Amino acid sequence: MSLESTLREELCLHAKSLFDRGFTVGSSGNISVRLPDGFLVTPTNSCFGRLDPGRLSKVGPDWAHLSGDKPTKEIPLHRAMLAARPSAGAVVHLHSTYATAVSMLDDVDPANALPAMTPYLIMRVGPLAVIPYARPGASTIEESIESAGASHKAILLANHGPVVADGTLEAAVFAAEELEESARLFLLTRGLPIRLLSSAQVQELVSTFVSPSPR
Ligand SMILES: [Zn+2]
Repeated sequence: MSLESTLREELCLHAKSLFDRGFTVGSSGNISVRLPDGFLVTPTNSCFGRLDPGRLSKVGPDWAHLSGDKPTKEIPLHRAMLAARPSAGAVVHLHSTYATAVSMLDDVDPANALPAMTPYLIMRVGPLAVIPYARPGASTIEESIESAGASHKAILLANHGPVVADGTLEAAVFAAEELEESARLFLLTRGLPIRLLSSAQVQELVSTFVSPSPR
């Protein structure tokens, strides 16, 4: 099977798995995957629960539509994130409940919205940026994402949802899942006298597990 066919199958399996476990509902959420000759993107108004590998949108290196169904309206955020992170192989965007709830909080650090709660948050997600609200599909969002994406693999679009990039499709999906569960833990423990990882413990995780060039 060609690389592209394998990625088409993988994208649909991951999307169905996310849908089946409630990480996305209805036709929300979209995924993009980098190919040698362009990108695969989930179609507009498609449901993660029943994507067809043969009907995924394919766009060229300039993001012009080449084949398959019409791509998601949220292309600008994928284009910006993949441009900001040249080594990223895929971007996952969800409207998952807990991460979106955190995206509405007014009192979080926009450069690192979640505290150092668990090792896997540090290892899989890293610092979580929050960027100002913009209408879905608005091209103005690209500038904010390109700027935050250079230093963050995970971004929350305020009052909208998470955007997560990683080297491979599987890593990006796993990071999006880790982010959602971390946001849930954060909200569950808000106001409780919890113990966080110390900065020395965070440093140890970063130097042991996180690639020196995260982009
Ligand atoms: Zn969205």
